[in-house]
Amino acid sequence: MATNRTFTMIKPDGVENGHIGGILNMITEGGFRIVSMKLTQLTVADAQKFYAVHSARPFFGELVEFMTRGPIVAAILEKDNAVEDFRTLIGATNPADAAEGTIRKKYATSIGENAVHGSDSDENAAIESAFHFAGREQF
Ligand code: GDP
Repeated sequence: MATNRTFTMIKPDGVENGHIGGILNMITEGGFRIVSMKLTQLTVADAQKFYAVHSARPFFGELVEFMTRGPIVAAILEKDNAVEDFRTLIGATNPADAAEGTIRKKYATSIGENAVHGSDSDENAAIESAFHFAGREQF
């Protein structure tokens, strides 16, 4: 059964390019409630752990370097069918394939620097949320 929470990050490119406000606006206009949120920065160890599933991929080093190069906004979001609906709102990994009206279509610059993260399953949403937020930070 689908749960009602997902986890997101505004990635370093989105923060550097001044898109925190624009992206948060699309998220709230999309019907998501912000449960938790903070500006933070991943260490290399954090990024390697967060993206461990991609450790054998050729772009892993580039991905870790990108994700640690500046601050990110981490957030937990709530909405019915949150994981699937948020994946729809962010669009395809590669902005060239992202649908009109999606966050990545508007703000991503490449397949690597694609502005936002969205959990791909309820299980990962729970793991990723717990990675960044204590229970008392979840409202
Ligand atoms: P997502 O679930 O849409 O974020 O995509 P994936 O789980 O497949 O990949 C995780 C992240 O790795 C993506 O959001 C990109 O930031 C990065 N990534 C994926 N494919 C590539 C690639 O071919 N090159 C680079 N540099 N980064 C990639």
